[in-house]
Amino acid sequence: MSMTLILLNDTLRLHDNPLLCIADGSNTKAAVMVLNRHAFFGQQYGIKRANLQRLQQQLSVIHSLNHALAARNIGLITLFGDTAQCLLKLAQQLGTTRLYCAEPVATYEYAAIARLSQQLSVTTFDCNSLLAAASHPGLESLPDSFTAFRKKYEPSLQVTPPFDSAIPDEAWLTPAQAEHYSADFTQLHQQYLPQPLHFSASEDAALTHLKHYIWQQRHILHYKDTRNQLIGKHYASFCSPALAVGSLSVRWLWHEIERFEQQIMANDSTYWLKFELLWREFFRWQCRKHGASWFSKGGIQDVIDFTAPVLNTDQQQHFRNWCSANTGNAFIDANMKLLNQTGLMSNRGRQNVASYLVHDLGIDWRLGAAYFEQRLLDYDCASNWGNWAYIAGTGNSQARQFNVQKQTQLYDPDGSFVRAMADTQPLSETGYDSTGLV
Ligand SMILES: Cc1cc2nc3c(=O)[nH]c(=O)nc-3n(C[C@H](O)[C@H](O)[C@H](O)COP(=O)(O)OP(=O)(O)OC[C@H]3O[C@@H](n4cnc5c(N)ncnc54)[C@H](O)[C@@H]3O)c2cc1C
Repeated sequence: MSMTLILLNDTLRLHDNPLLCIADGSNTKAAVMVLNRHAFFGQQYGIKRANLQRLQQQLSVIHSLNHALAARNIGLITLFGDTAQCLLKLAQQLGTTRLYCAEPVATYEYAAIARLSQQLSVTTFDCNSLLAAASHPGLESLPDSFTAFRKKYEPSLQVTPPFDSAIPDEAWLTPAQAEHYSADFTQLHQQYLPQPLHFSASEDAALTHLKHYIWQQRHILHYKDTRNQLIGKHYASFCSPALAVGSLSVRWLWHEIERFEQQIMANDSTYWLKFELLWREFFRWQCRKHGASWFSKGGIQDVIDFTAPVLNTDQQQHFRNWCSANTGNAFIDANMKLLNQTGLMSNRGRQNVASYLVHDLGIDWRLGAAYFEQRLLDYDCASNWGNWAYIAGTGNSQARQFNVQKQTQLYDPDGSFVRAMADTQPLSETGYDSTGLV
């Protein structure tokens, strides 16, 4: 029996998922997903890479996909460990040499594919990009400034319509068969996700939320005016967690915005949401272009230097205070409290706390990026490290220093955001230097 592995790590969804619709003539296909141990349980610079909330979100999205596939009698093999090792072992167990997966973005994912390609025939599809395959930029000629990137690609941008064909009725490994291979993951799931969460980035939740945001409440029509707010429910789209975990297709979202523009109304706000999606696109291509440099001290602006950040005693204390929302600057602390409590922070808040850490406290930008990685429910390698480098001046821009006092006056003039956060519970932990998942 010939078998094909379909790796769903970056496309945890049924909609617009070309990987589920591959017809390659194999008798059986096995849907598989690997939770990378290092990405969730590893550390960088003494900072855990994910906190409990982020792990739980990932587990819950996988759980939802598992259910959705099971309803079609398709099993999802869920593995936990080193991605390449897990897949090679599975390929051996199933006697297969073929694997399909989404085109990655980050270096460690490319490294995993390179390892797999030594023993398997690996085919990638770019499932999560706005630039269609035909207009994929050659990485060398890719502009390093956002404006140049946008000017080059936006005028002729034809985003591929979402793939909406039904999943072919070919033989798939069934849920009962898939369970046989998923023991380690099942244990992890039982340990960390004993009950459903109150937050969700699952496909269903994301699609329902966006239908509400775009079509029912039409909040999209005021996006440009409200996107700089610091707190609230509808000031922005809140689609980032689902985009980050791959339960939402960026192409589906793009086409929903354009459908709304054609059927209801196009204004500055509807355009601006697409403009922000281009920022996301820009950082993804930058990440592919510059690879490991993103994690180097001087980013893409300097020679590669992976030596870990060094902090003197005062800086260590300042960094702890920043993480735990105790800097003494009310605006910064309010934003950090929001991050620590909810796993999210507005874009305006992120820019300010990043600038404050790097330029006011003089702390290595990589520590801030690592702390955000641990906490953000929308953690996305390219967007996070790219934005941090942008502000630090090690990425696609000169250093950007925000005047926090002026920003407070502009964006929280009556102090209501700071007051709202002051009334919330103090933080009992920050995850910095902690030894267990918190
Ligand atoms: C220091 C720093 C770290 C960041 N880390 C992340 C991260 O890990 N993951 C992440 O998705 N975004 C990150 N961002 C970008 C931005 O803050 C978030 O995308 C946005 O706040 C998410 O909320 P939203 O979905 O409501 O955004 P909206 O304002 O509704 O925007 C819609 C979408 O556009 C994209 N987008 C908007 N702004 C940016 C931007 N500056 N860069 C890249 N894409 C953007 C996102 O996909 C977002 O979901 C970071 C920004 C900064 C300054």
